[in-house]
Amino acid sequence: MAKVLCVLYADPVDGYPADYARDDLPEIGGYPDGQTLPSPKATDFQPGALLGSVSGELGLRRFLEGLGHELVVTSDKDGPDSRFEREVEDAEIVISQPFWPAYLTAERIAKARNLKMAVTAGIGSDHVDLQAAIDRGITVTEVTYCNSISVAEHVVMMILSLVRNYLPSHDWVRKGGWNIADCAARSYDVEGMHVGTVAAGRIGLAVLRRMKPFDVNLHYHDRHRLPSEVESELGLVWHDRIEDMLPHCDVVTINCPLHPETENLFDDAMIGRMKRGAYLVNTARGKICDRDAVARALESGQLAGYAGDVWFPQPAPKDHPWRTMPNHGMTPHISGTTLSAQARYAAGVREILECWFEGRPIREEYLIVEGGRLAGAGAHSYSEGNATGGSDEAARFKG
Ligand code: NDP
Repeated sequence: MAKVLCVLYADPVDGYPADYARDDLPEIGGYPDGQTLPSPKATDFQPGALLGSVSGELGLRRFLEGLGHELVVTSDKDGPDSRFEREVEDAEIVISQPFWPAYLTAERIAKARNLKMAVTAGIGSDHVDLQAAIDRGITVTEVTYCNSISVAEHVVMMILSLVRNYLPSHDWVRKGGWNIADCAARSYDVEGMHVGTVAAGRIGLAVLRRMKPFDVNLHYHDRHRLPSEVESELGLVWHDRIEDMLPHCDVVTINCPLHPETENLFDDAMIGRMKRGAYLVNTARGKICDRDAVARALESGQLAGYAGDVWFPQPAPKDHPWRTMPNHGMTPHISGTTLSAQARYAAGVREILECWFEGRPIREEYLIVEGGRLAGAGAHSYSEGNATGGSDEAARFKG
């Protein structure tokens, strides 16, 4: 019997929903590159239900208990007295979502004597100390592609809302006012702008495709170049070095994983290479941007706007400067956990667990670490080392 420890975000403040805004989810046939949707043998949830919060349990309880395993679900994840800290000691599998990350630091991995697999219910396993997982032979998996399009849609929304000055204009309505000049004084058209993505993987490419109809000029920087047909179809300009791309761009969107090469990539110097008045959208990971450098650039006007949904640590402390800096459009970490995405990643987690317990290989595209090395999607997108350095502090922090 295995103990499965699942860390999920808390239920809505008004309680677990009895009904929903919509009655169904659109059917998706597959992912844009041909990858198939998660395909567990069965699921025990209604697509469209809230699965990512504690009461939703990712729809796993019946399945796991039916096989005789123990499922522990908690949102209490930080601080030495947290339930996570206690339960992890004898857990075989830890499941966590990036939106409410259970930081699996080297210290916690050392304590977790039975730990064999860490599953990310979503994409992005930087909350796991990947180097420690490599050293201990722990398998790390994630549900590749499950919410890439969800995030791409969010990025487009944030680009438009920053450039068009949507949120401050909406505020005028909510506060009962009507000052057109105040709304218009920071509002521009996206048409004709130069938009660049740092990384053109699943999300980055989907953002480029979605921005194309706005008649913008598209740029990208990635370690690997896209096929030439894609470059010419979208009219993309590739930049070998990020430093060369930035001075051209009115809007920059960050879509690479957090790993040692990308931690603090956007510091004062990098932001200083951007055009004055550029917009920066980061839905990738908070630590890719230097927290105080972003706040400084908004104060000085070097950046006209910053938006995203990723922070460090998560949940963000009440006094995090990104809550109060000017001209920002931040949300909590939500872009990849729409009800649509939840149905896909809950099914993906179920598929991974079915494979694990039946001794069948887990799909290559879901693997991040296996057999003491980066594997599958992890070997392509991550680099070895520890980008969770500092997570020790996050794991101890209790908001
Ligand atoms: P992919 O693996 O498809 O794409 C990542 C891309 O980043 C790859 O093309 C990779 O390049 C590129 N890359 C890696 N390191 C660098 C670097 N140093 N410089 C430039 N490019 C680099 O992942 P997704 O697009 O699906 O997701 C990307 C990230 O978005 C995730 O890792 C996660 O952190 C974040 N995310 C956020 C979510 C949210 O809710 N806010 C939800 C889902 C993901 P190559 O492979 O060519 O080397």
